Amino acid sequence: MNVRMTRLACAVLVAASWVLCRVPFLEPAIAAPKARFVASDTSDRYHLSTCKVAQKIHPEETLRFQTPEEAVAKGLVPCKKCDPPVSSAPARD
Ligand SMILES: [Zn+2]
Repeated sequence: MNVRMTRLACAVLVAASWVLCRVPFLEPAIAAPKARFVASDTSDRYHLSTCKVAQKIHPEETLRFQTPEEAVAKGLVPCKKCDPPVSSAPARD
């Protein structure tokens, strides 16, 4: 394959991935991984996403985290009802 063919192949690949990234039905799966932990931006507590308190948080006030460390880094403390972990490392008990 000569240089010109390689460049053409690259251009086709870039174009194909550009199109794929913009197919609307693929976007939700990419853009919105399910949050494991949530908090309200008006509260200093964070919750498991299954917590009843968490489910009452207004969607516009909901902060989402994949790890407890992210919530702790924002200065949040664990909810006393659902008792979310403070670390994503496995407990050593
Ligand atoms: Zn909770």
